[in-house]
This record gives sequence, C-alpha cells and structure tokens, in this order.
Amino acid sequence: MKVSIASDHGGVDLKAFLVKALSGAASVLDRGPADKTPCDYPDMADKVACDVAGGEVDFGILVCRSGVGMSMAANRFQNVRAALCHTTEAAVMSRQHNGANVLCLGADIVSAEYAAEIAKAFIATPVDETDRHARRRAKIERAGRLSDASGLMKDDPEVFAAILAQTEQEDTEINLIASENTSSRACREAAGSVLMNKYAEGYPGKRWYSGCLPVDAAEELARKRACELFGADHVNVQPHCGSAANMAVYFATLKPGDTIMALSLDQGGHLSHGSPVNFSGKIYTIVPYTVSKETETIDYDELEKQALEVKPKILLSGASAYPRTIDFKRIREICDKVGCLMVVDMAHIAGLVAGGAHPSPVPYADFVTTTTHKTLRGPRGGLVLCKEQYAKALDSAVFPGMQGGPLENIIAAKAVCFREAMQDDFKEYARQLVANCKVLCKTVADRGYRIVSGGTDNHLFLVDVKSRGMTGKDAAAALDAAGIVVNKNTIPYDTESPFRTSGIRVGTASVTTRGMKEPEMIKIGTWIADVLDNIADTAVQERVKREAKALALAFPVP
Ligand SMILES: *Cc1c(COP(=O)(O)O)cnc(C)c1O
Repeated sequence: MKVSIASDHGGVDLKAFLVKALSGAASVLDRGPADKTPCDYPDMADKVACDVAGGEVDFGILVCRSGVGMSMAANRFQNVRAALCHTTEAAVMSRQHNGANVLCLGADIVSAEYAAEIAKAFIATPVDETDRHARRRAKIERAGRLSDASGLMKDDPEVFAAILAQTEQEDTEINLIASENTSSRACREAAGSVLMNKYAEGYPGKRWYSGCLPVDAAEELARKRACELFGADHVNVQPHCGSAANMAVYFATLKPGDTIMALSLDQGGHLSHGSPVNFSGKIYTIVPYTVSKETETIDYDELEKQALEVKPKILLSGASAYPRTIDFKRIREICDKVGCLMVVDMAHIAGLVAGGAHPSPVPYADFVTTTTHKTLRGPRGGLVLCKEQYAKALDSAVFPGMQGGPLENIIAAKAVCFREAMQDDFKEYARQLVANCKVLCKTVADRGYRIVSGGTDNHLFLVDVKSRGMTGKDAAAALDAAGIVVNKNTIPYDTESPFRTSGIRVGTASVTTRGMKEPEMIKIGTWIADVLDNIADTAVQERVKREAKALALAFPVP
C-alpha cells in the first residue's frame, strides 16, 4: 500500500511523527516540507491530490493546523475525496460510506498518538460496496458533472440554465439519436481546457505563432494516436467537423465542376456529399447513386456499371443512415476499374471500425474522412486519414486552404478519445453496440414494424413507420413525449417529404456507452412499440416516460 503525505509549516512535526508511525503499514511518500519555513498549504495539498488523482498512491494524508484548508484545497481535484477526521470513528465511516481517499488532520486539534491511530484506521478500512452507499457515492460523482460548470451559476446564469437542462435531459431520457453519443469526462475536460486560448496556425513544429510547444505536444499526440488507431499513413486532425473534413478532401483533389458520385441524400447519404443546398453540390457535379429497390442495400454490380458510365473523379462511400456493412474491398475494385479516387466518409461507423466491429476502409481508400463525435465517442470534430502520397495536398487544403487556427482544445480531446478507443473495453463497447442494436431492432420488428433492409449490421436501423400508417415526424414526436429520443428520417424511395418522412432512425451508441445491454434493449424496444401502437394515447406516453426515466437514472452518464 502506498501513501503520499504532506503538510504546511504548521503541521511539520505531526507529519514527521506520522511518517514514522505508518512506515510499518505502508510505503510512505513524503512530499514535504522538510522544515518550518513558511509555505502555502494549497501548494502542498496539490502535490498529494495529484498523487491520488493520478493513481500514483492508494491514499493521501494532509496536515495543517486545523486540517480545514487542506481538505478544501484537495477536494478541488477530480477523483479526490478528502475527509477531515478527528476521531477514528469518523475516519472509518469516511472510508466505508464515502470512499474517502485523502485524510486531513489538524495538528492543533489531535495529539500525535491519536492522529496515528486515526490514520491507521483510515487506511485499513475497506469501502462498503453495499448498493445504497455505492448509489450515494455515484451521486457525488454526478454532482461533479454540474460542478464542472458551477462557476457559471454566478457568472452567467442564463448559459448555466442551458447546461443544467442538457444535464437533466441526459440523466433522464433514453437517447437513441444514431449520430450522438455520450463523451467521457476526460474528453470534456480536454475540450474545456486552457488549450482553447492558443492560436496555432500551421502544424506542429511549423507554426505561424510563438509559444506553441504545449499545443504542439497535444496535436502530435492526436496525430500519432489516430494513425496508430486506424493504421493510417497520414492524418490531419484539424478539420472542425465532418463536413469540413469532406471539404478538405475535395479541395485537395478536385477542381470546380469535377464529378463526385455519392449515395443519394434521401437514401442515407450526407449533405456534404453533394446536396444542392450545400457547398459540395454548388461547386461540384454530383451524380447520386441509389440502393436497390428490392433489398434496400447497395447493389455493387449496379454501382460498378454506373461508375464506369459516369467516370467520376471521386467515388464516395459512407452514409448517415445505412444500416448494413459496406463492402470496401468491392468498392476499391470499382474505383480501380474506373480509375477514380476512393474516398470513404466513415463518420457514423468510425467507432465500430476502431473497435473492430466493422471492416476498416483504411487499407483500401485513398482518403478516409470522419467525425470524431458519433460512435467514436470523442469531441465534436472531424479528421482526414490518407495515403502518404496525398499528405501534402491534404494539409495545405486544410490550412491555409480553408481554415485558420485549429481548435487545439478540441484536438487534445480527440487525442483523449483516440487513446480511449485503443483500450480493450472500447472493443467490448463496439461489440455490445452492435449486439444491442440487433436486439432493439428485432424487438421492434417482432411487434410488426417493417425494418428497412430487413435488419441491421451496425449501430443503427431504420423503421418504416409509414407502413403502419404514420409519418416519421409524428412517430418521433410521440416518442419524444415518452422520453425516448430518435429522429425522423427518409427511407429509400420515400414518398413523404423530407420534413414529414416515412421513417425513424434509431441508434444504440449512447445507451451502450451508459452500460445498457440486451435486457434493457428489449425494454426500450417494447416501449417504442407501445408508444407507436397507440400514437395518440398520452397515457401510454406518460407511463413509458416514467419507466424510461427510471431506467436512464439507473445507468448514469459518465
Ligand atoms: C455526421 C456526418 C457528417 C458531418 O458531420 P458534421 O460534423 O455535422 O459536419 C459527414 N458525413 C456523414 C456521413 C455524416 O453522417
């Protein structure tokens, strides 16, 4: 067992006594001070709090004259729970009930001998894992999510109200928006960090501003990790979003008027794949391809025929609402026959690719673009991977081609996300994400709802609600009233307007991140069918909303 200990000048003697007294029971790391030269207690608390927060030691002990200042300072750190205890009983309870990991002591308040007894009791007592204590400790952590923004309560209550509302919504609703997820605290910490303050036009080592060493380190980490995670030659982590990532590839490879073939928007494509209202459709010639009317999946032979006729400069694959595995190897063959660039926009499935739950496009494609905030579970942003030969063209397309200074705080959060995605538990998340989606899909299908393409291979599926006499717009509104959040979505060969739609899109990324598994998917699927079967029945919506809220609260947001 390892214990880190420090004091201020008022606590030096007691600290020295405790170092000796504990040396039999633990390996003690003495963080100072060595003498009674006046020092500031927060500086000393920081040292021990960092040891504990960073996992260097099992426990911390802090001593000042009252112990109060030390406990206040230490409790500012995430993952530190500092307890000011002047009896052995309080020390034992602080461990059992509260999971305290730092003990604060007042040298003017307890004798040295009794302080040693308190410290020994503290480090010898295990945390009580009984449900009610675990639940209350979890609530301390949950309060921590709000405390991240608690300065705004005073500084800007209107903005704080929006953050509070989002926090409550996440806590109490079932989020099935296929393009959303729930990012980690680590990711949010990096995104909200001081790296936001730095201008860094250019790339690591070649910036247009001074003082870029810290952000260079963050961006290098992001680049190295992204290449390792996806097995890519080169990456640009600066695009502000997925649309910007696509723009960067077009700017790097095309001239205005050149032709791109991409999946039609109303069949699952994306705005930035050539919608007439988007820059992509305004600058380039877009030829959409479609899915087969019978199977509602891509017919690769048809795609090949069309591509050979159209001869695009880019054959773009990837989608926002396509529930099936995409055959990247086959698309590479088509691109080779046509002699065009293969670009894959894996925005939706990047987390599945990273976690090994969907084949990777990276070995096949010339360029792969993605968002970082969908199944990949990072901050809102984009990136582009490419083969070495395109690295220069890509980098100059992003800067100075289309962006100024990169968002280094967001790039740091991307680095955090890539590291998380390299861990074993991310592979398990990706596997469970798909397993959950299949079960949720089957539960809804078993209640008589037609599923586009007959099922799903990935993190989302599309329900044809028109086949049961309602629009996607009305279905999504009824589910929203029941605390289940999905979006209306067009389905292939939709006869409704894009505003009304015949379908809803359902995704399992956020609920999987929260730890839900197959039994919860069956519950949620049953609620979806209950609400849609009785779309005008507000009593059903009320009942489901209560049950959904209880389920959401049982799976706390990280
Ligand atoms: C979400 C998405 C994007 C763009 O994302 P933004 O970050 O919102 O610009 C691009 N392509 C596809 C396929 C997407 O699903």
